[in-house]
Amino acid sequence: MKAAVIDNGKVRIVEVPEPEPGEGEVIIRVEYALTDGTDLKALLRGHHLIGNGPFGHEYSGVVVKVGEGVEGFKVGDEVVGANTGPCYTCQMCRRGRYNLCENLKDNMVLGAYAEYLRIPAPVVRTNLYHKPPDLPFRYAPMVEPLACVLHGVETLNLKGYEKVLIVGTGSIASFFVLALKLLGHSVTVLGRNPEKLSLIAENLKPDEVLTYTDAIGKYDVVIESTGKEEVWKKVINYTDRGGKVLLFGGLPSGTYVPFDAHRVHYEEIHLLTSFHHTPTSVRRALHVLKDNWRRLAFLVSGEFPLMRIEEAFKLMAEGKGFKYAVRP
Ligand SMILES: [Zn+2]
Repeated sequence: MKAAVIDNGKVRIVEVPEPEPGEGEVIIRVEYALTDGTDLKALLRGHHLIGNGPFGHEYSGVVVKVGEGVEGFKVGDEVVGANTGPCYTCQMCRRGRYNLCENLKDNMVLGAYAEYLRIPAPVVRTNLYHKPPDLPFRYAPMVEPLACVLHGVETLNLKGYEKVLIVGTGSIASFFVLALKLLGHSVTVLGRNPEKLSLIAENLKPDEVLTYTDAIGKYDVVIESTGKEEVWKKVINYTDRGGKVLLFGGLPSGTYVPFDAHRVHYEEIHLLTSFHHTPTSVRRALHVLKDNWRRLAFLVSGEFPLMRIEEAFKLMAEGKGFKYAVRP
């Protein structure tokens, strides 16, 4: 079968053997995979979880093969899921920190940019779902990034906090806008891409959109979703006394970010981080997506057949569009 692989900073289409299911695993025929910023990072600068080889981890499809001992799925089932599942035996899993599972990397779905995809047993067991019939294959893969965002929202514990500033104009920022508006918060989006800002404004109706040239006030909560060092440095400046900052966009290993320690301490600004998703946030994400995918449909900026996937990443690298649908 054909599969897209990362080959030292380039995308190549190669011929690989069709996967066979091991115990507890299923094989799906991929209907749609969606590109995302993590894939772009992996391609352009490398990523500690995604090396050379098959990639793509946001998927929807139809079960074509079922391994021994699989419960709840059969050939022909329409499915969508997350890219990892907890092992439930490591120290992090025993603490309930499923997003930090020590076996995350070994149990990861990688290779959604292909005709067929193997879903590892821990994912099948916990984070693979029957696709709701009214959720199209094309938008269903958004469940994974949305689950990461909902885990971030949970980490923030926003009870009593009203004014939220989201820094960034990508798909992650957009998911935050949706989630926080659903929870009734006042939401401002700050970014520098006017086209994306206006698409977010039109589709998700945040209370306010700002560009970096506007006067930026102070907010109860500030969410960094750009994964840019210079933005990490700035975000506490936008945070009010007693506020919270969520540092969501990951930076490369070895990046050091200075903060005004005086403000962080005497104004008790809580610096929080969130990474990845938990089984709870995946379940919630599917629920939110089922009811709201129409409002998020603008995030799929175009569609490419697998053979032309390189064009999708070229557009992403140029900052054009949010996500692209890839159809094997
Ligand atoms: Zn674990």
